[in-house]
Amino acid sequence: MKVGILALQGAVQPHEEKLKKLGITPIQVRYPEQLSDLAGIILPGGESTTMIHLLKLNKLWFPLKEFVQTKPTWGICAGSILLAKTVTHPFQESLEALDITIERNAYGRQNESFIDNLSETSDWKKFFKTDKAIEGVFIRAPRIKQLASNVKIIFKHKEEAVMVQKDKCLASTFHPELTDSTCIHEYFLSLCN
Ligand code: GLN
Repeated sequence: MKVGILALQGAVQPHEEKLKKLGITPIQVRYPEQLSDLAGIILPGGESTTMIHLLKLNKLWFPLKEFVQTKPTWGICAGSILLAKTVTHPFQESLEALDITIERNAYGRQNESFIDNLSETSDWKKFFKTDKAIEGVFIRAPRIKQLASNVKIIFKHKEEAVMVQKDKCLASTFHPELTDSTCIHEYFLSLCN
């Protein structure tokens, strides 16, 4: 199975290591033709504004926009901003794959970044079979302010949705690639299969 990681900017390597642990050597995606035979793609954390610029420069914007509508995709932090239908603080264009409104840098500046335990919603307890609570690493993270009724919540931090899914499209505002657990990567690969 060929799984891609968008590799224009941001936290590419930690995802690569997680996928290798799970037996997949990912493709670093930089050009449109690399999308054609992928089973799924990870849009990593980083800086969404820079990513948009580089996606356009590399003529990936429209091919990726098409890809994420139907193929398994997981956006992390900046990647989740790229996938949201509506982006605020400030407004920014996006790939519009998930009907959510997301506010950038919504917890404050870099030194307001934090790690805290998450809770999974009941439907997901059976999948994430782990005794330990899943930790969420939030780095200049966005906040999901609104979500359509067809978008399911997988994880919450306190009472807020921090990981959501619609069909095969996932978005998390935290960074699972920076903790020891591989369970969320395993979950994404199960969607690609
Ligand atoms: N603040 C970044 C943005 O707006 C996201 C940060 C991250 O990906 N860790 O794009």
